[in-house]
Amino acid sequence: MPYKDHQNHESALKVNEGIEQPEQVSPSAVERFKSKKQQLLKPDEYVQGILSGNRTILSKAITLVESVNPLHYALAQDVIEKCLPHSGNSVRVGITGVPGVGKSTFIEALGKHLTASGFKLAVLAIDPSSSRTKGSILGDKTRMEDLSTDKNAFIRPSPSAGSLGGVARKTNETIILCEAAGFDVIFIETVGVGQSEIAVHSMVDFFLLLMLAGAGDELQGIKRGIMEMADAIYINKADGDNIHKANQAKTEYKNALHLFPPTESGWIPQVGLCSARSKQGIEDVWQTIRKYEDFTKANGFFQKKRHDQKVQIMFGTIHENLKSGFYQNETIQNSLAQVNKDLLSDKISSYIAAQRLLEIYFSSKRTEG
Ligand code: GDP
Repeated sequence: MPYKDHQNHESALKVNEGIEQPEQVSPSAVERFKSKKQQLLKPDEYVQGILSGNRTILSKAITLVESVNPLHYALAQDVIEKCLPHSGNSVRVGITGVPGVGKSTFIEALGKHLTASGFKLAVLAIDPSSSRTKGSILGDKTRMEDLSTDKNAFIRPSPSAGSLGGVARKTNETIILCEAAGFDVIFIETVGVGQSEIAVHSMVDFFLLLMLAGAGDELQGIKRGIMEMADAIYINKADGDNIHKANQAKTEYKNALHLFPPTESGWIPQVGLCSARSKQGIEDVWQTIRKYEDFTKANGFFQKKRHDQKVQIMFGTIHENLKSGFYQNETIQNSLAQVNKDLLSDKISSYIAAQRLLEIYFSSKRTEG
């Protein structure tokens, strides 16, 4: 069958079945590459590297955090624990908005402004598409070209697969490593189309929503709940012919925010205009973030939120582990078919089926112990 590319076009790269293809790379080179790839450092070597701001080592440590290999992960935990006393000294900003709103242009503009003012900026991305489609909304184009070569900026694309809870924990651990490496501003970028905002909200201090003016549906598929989480809404692309519409949208969003209940922090969410292209309003966004930081540090909310987030991640991790422990349990796997059969033939209710499986699980754990 002729090879077809992803758009279903016939491709010149067709493979004739039945003809053995030559090795593209010598097997020994593959082995050498593998052993090089798996070379691990000692925990203290990672820690020293991170604390001295060595980004190659920081990248390697983040790869360990993202790894599904239990050995890598144990090593990562050791490194994180040693980095923890050096973490926490940054402002963590979540940035979201639909694809095309200008997130990468905006991050580049604000990011260059920050690095020029002496800040060290880390940009982490969470991409909900990557685990489902193996593609990436955030990674499929060259993004933030200037920032990626800036010695005061560190850009890390999203960890690929994994549950949202897992991604939240891994991103949180990545934040700890970046802070220990001296980054004092952390941006967490996400596409404003899914559940990931809720996860991002649970790991940042400040949540910024970028919007467009006059894009038909004023909410642009952004759920009300996401607007409700925002500490600031900025209407991007407020330039050229768009300025009038942007001002109108600003009034509309301000009115909409008035209808939301007061925030726990006591902060009144701000609505503003910016243009990532002309850089108008970019400094204003940063001033808003700083004002929020001062305000919530003064009333104690900043620390309270960080404490709550730590506890939330702990419980999230417990839930994840209990769930995967249950479904991967051999006795459960062996019992599922029978319990399912009893359930579907109306011998037992869903509640009793669940109880039965839980009993099976806990008694298998007792025998293990
Ligand atoms: P993302 O998908 O949200 O990361 O959006 P991008 O940063 O890739 O921007 C999408 C398009 O909008 C690009 O063509 C940008 O050049 C353009 N763009 C981004 N910011 C602005 C802006 O402030 N004004 C105007 N006019 N265009 C912008």
